[in-house]
Amino acid sequence: MVEIRKPILVSRAVELVMQNAKLLATETVTLDAAYGRILAEPIIAKHDVPPFNRSPYDGFAVRAEDTVGASGENRTPFKVVEEIGAGHVATKQIEQGEAYRIMTGAELPAQADAVVMLEQTVEGEGTFTLRKPFVEGENISFQGEDAKEGEALIHKGALIHPGTIALLATFGYANVEVAKQPVVGLLSTGTELLNVDEALVPGKIRNSNGPMIIAQLERMGIGHQSYGMLVDDLDACTKTVERAIAETDMLITTGGVSVGDYDYLPAIYERLGAKVLFNKVAMRPGSVTTVAVLGDKLLFGLSGNPSACFTGFELFTRPAILRMMGAENPYMPYMKATLGEDFTKPNPFTRFVRAVWEMGEAGPVAAPAGFNKSSAVSSIARGNCIIVLPSGTRGFTKGMEVNILLLGAEQGVSKWAL
Ligand code: AMP
Ligand code: MG
Repeated sequence: MVEIRKPILVSRAVELVMQNAKLLATETVTLDAAYGRILAEPIIAKHDVPPFNRSPYDGFAVRAEDTVGASGENRTPFKVVEEIGAGHVATKQIEQGEAYRIMTGAELPAQADAVVMLEQTVEGEGTFTLRKPFVEGENISFQGEDAKEGEALIHKGALIHPGTIALLATFGYANVEVAKQPVVGLLSTGTELLNVDEALVPGKIRNSNGPMIIAQLERMGIGHQSYGMLVDDLDACTKTVERAIAETDMLITTGGVSVGDYDYLPAIYERLGAKVLFNKVAMRPGSVTTVAVLGDKLLFGLSGNPSACFTGFELFTRPAILRMMGAENPYMPYMKATLGEDFTKPNPFTRFVRAVWEMGEAGPVAAPAGFNKSSAVSSIARGNCIIVLPSGTRGFTKGMEVNILLLGAEQGVSKWAL
């Protein structure tokens, strides 16, 4: 008899996965290895930024009081006593009517209190004139205006992106404390599967899920440990799954989670004593997506159907991996878009449609990326987003507003509204 499974809402399934994502330890990496990692310590300003008052322009550093009365008819002359390039400091003092030639980024000498841009002067031989007065503090980048020493600037749990790298470098973080990355085991099941370099033979197909998931992991900067492809044999699969769980922090399997005669993952979970968090989700594609926990390890049983497999990874596995690393924004970003085509078939389950979004005249427009069954592989290749069509009895028509999940974004958001 076919087992009856009770579907749970996608939001509940995500919640269950996230609750069971165990926080990994931290490690220290050098700054040049920190890009893409998750910060395990906050970034606190170790000094003021900028660390000294400096010139934001190429020009002349003057005493504002000496510019009083300058006008077009009465240009005020200055004598240049010293030139200060970026990285140098002044060695001379200035008196009334004297100035420093100063370059962008150079420290403002103590006696000067305003900077005149080159364009605001008429230059002579070691001299220049001005046609307007300057006020104290004009054209100065003040010490600490960007960040004050001791200020908490970036949270622990933030993704280290190029901007974060710049901040870390500013404060001299040659080493950074980051979350360890999980060792992710990957195993594809199915007697029908061939390797990429094998010729098609009757009844067989090439394994596309394995390489796809490796790339989905790589897009997150995460490596994998491969357990290859397994034929549908309960004993052999159980052994490999058991070994994989022992050697990794989490395991992704593809295929074998349905209710067919050779879908052995449910039996394997049972044999190993894993607790099944859910084995049916109210979503299309991927309703058979199954997630189990053994000890503190998550076991992702993704559907063998390529579109379902892809979607299952993005909806459940990806945020779980990020949560394991303590990421504060583990969810892929989403935005509103106008539906570019009718999608009239009502669906009792939330539908995730591989789609292409483009900028339309009135804002983003998203249209399905072609053949859209759960078995589809061509639409995954074309898609740059996933349209979310909430469950219900009505269909959706062109022009309606929908949420789209943005694939491949570097930075995520802290919550989803699925
Ligand atoms: P399953 O989830 O094992 O019932 O598989 C569902 C469908 O996905 C079947 O048509 C399988 O042949 C296909 N499939 C399973 N695994 C893969 C894979 N790794 N790559 C491509 N297609 C697959
Ligand atoms: Mg199978």
